[in-house]
Amino acid sequence: MGSQPTRFAIIGNGAAGTYCAEQLRKLDAACEILMIDDEPYTLYNRVSLPRYLRGVLLEQRVYVRDMEWHVKNRIDLRLETKVDQVSFDEKTLHMEPGGEIPYDRLLIATGGRPNPLKAPGAEDAKYLFNFQYFDEAKGMVARIPESKVAVVLGGSFIGYELTEAFAHRGLETHWLMRGPWFLRRALDKEGGEVITLLARDAGVHLHYDEAIDRLEPMNGQTKVTGTKDFSATADMVGVGLGLTMNIDIFADTGLETNVGVLTDEFLATNIPDVWAAGDVAEFYDVVSQRHHRMGTWDNSLNHGRHVAKNMLGAKEPYVEVPTYASGMFNSNISVMGVTTEEEPEAEALVEVDHQGRNYKRLFFLGDRLVGAILVGKMKGRKKVLELIHQRTPIPDRGSVFGLLAMPELPVKAAATTEQ
Ligand SMILES: Cc1cc2nc3c(=O)[nH]c(=O)nc-3n(C[C@H](O)[C@H](O)[C@H](O)COP(=O)(O)OP(=O)(O)OC[C@H]3O[C@@H](n4cnc5c(N)ncnc54)[C@H](O)[C@@H]3O)c2cc1C
Repeated sequence: MGSQPTRFAIIGNGAAGTYCAEQLRKLDAACEILMIDDEPYTLYNRVSLPRYLRGVLLEQRVYVRDMEWHVKNRIDLRLETKVDQVSFDEKTLHMEPGGEIPYDRLLIATGGRPNPLKAPGAEDAKYLFNFQYFDEAKGMVARIPESKVAVVLGGSFIGYELTEAFAHRGLETHWLMRGPWFLRRALDKEGGEVITLLARDAGVHLHYDEAIDRLEPMNGQTKVTGTKDFSATADMVGVGLGLTMNIDIFADTGLETNVGVLTDEFLATNIPDVWAAGDVAEFYDVVSQRHHRMGTWDNSLNHGRHVAKNMLGAKEPYVEVPTYASGMFNSNISVMGVTTEEEPEAEALVEVDHQGRNYKRLFFLGDRLVGAILVGKMKGRKKVLELIHQRTPIPDRGSVFGLLAMPELPVKAAATTEQ
């Protein structure tokens, strides 16, 4: 590359893309940074969207970076611009609008898009929302004042966030999920019961083993018919049915993909000078010793900062215990490391207190603690992370509950996710 400044290109201006750009600029004052995103906004915090939807956070507080920051840091940000083709041989990408542009080193930070509801009537339904983008949150915020009844489908975190927000806004809220309880692959029946109690405390109507069969317009509202026996006339319908990773533009390019873009522990792909980070990266996780895809803000932020160093020539493995922390109605939930969702072979130990709405589930592979879920009191969270990270054998697995009960410093809540 001689004395020419390196031309970095980043697809996606979410947490992974933006924090990578920030770090590149910090470490290389001369480089050129081009960042492209098809949304119309500078970086905003998706983790803040539920609080914005609940009406407890102003729209302006959702943004993390403004255009001025990009100008000051000489990051050439192209919004409402889609990358529709990449040639790894030529080292060029094609943008619409903008045409073809060369790069020296490329970061793929394209995240995922929400899976649509596939049911008769869904395509034409007027107040049917996914919950991934700022624009969807704005659409729901505009509709809530005209609404009395909401239906939500989805037994994972986005389903929960929609339910929580609608109930908080005083809507009669029906929460449908296809499984027998929330997070059915990671929680057991008892954990599901604790979530049921928390949801009922918040006034939510729960409908398990139920999905949406069809939607029909009805005098400005939507008639929702379930697959079992559910039926309601709703003002709004929210769905959280998982994400599909944005990897379509790399089909037939030779880039190795699975659900996301496969990388090694350095976040490098199989293509020279191409890295992936954030939700879309299915990276080799040194801690759990397997390929892993995370869908969390902190993981995307840390990936972004970390990959910048490797894009500048370092070769440092990414080593973090994956964590997810969220509110759970008037309580909290924290998921750490690997659970039976990703590793069905993991053995679980449970401690539950229905009365206090507290639940702890620890996951072991042999005599090693590999993951945990805590609901209610977050005491012991730091200790769990430490034990997972250390990978020390624990012959008496039940003793971990005792360790978690010992005093420790308070932990950060999801609401304070680093910006
Ligand atoms: C409602 C909600 C609540 C959440 N709550 C939590 C929480 O409590 N805790 C937590 O840790 N995490 C939470 N998350 C998840 C977290 O926000 C994400 O993991 C994180 O923001 C992902 O960042 P990213 O940079 O990898 O991808 P994204 O933020 O998805 O950014 C990717 C960007 O690339 C763009 N793009 C894709 N393809 C192209 C293309 N070809 N050309 C141009 N642009 C393209 C996309 O439109 C998008 O803007 C939540 C997410 C949502 C939606």
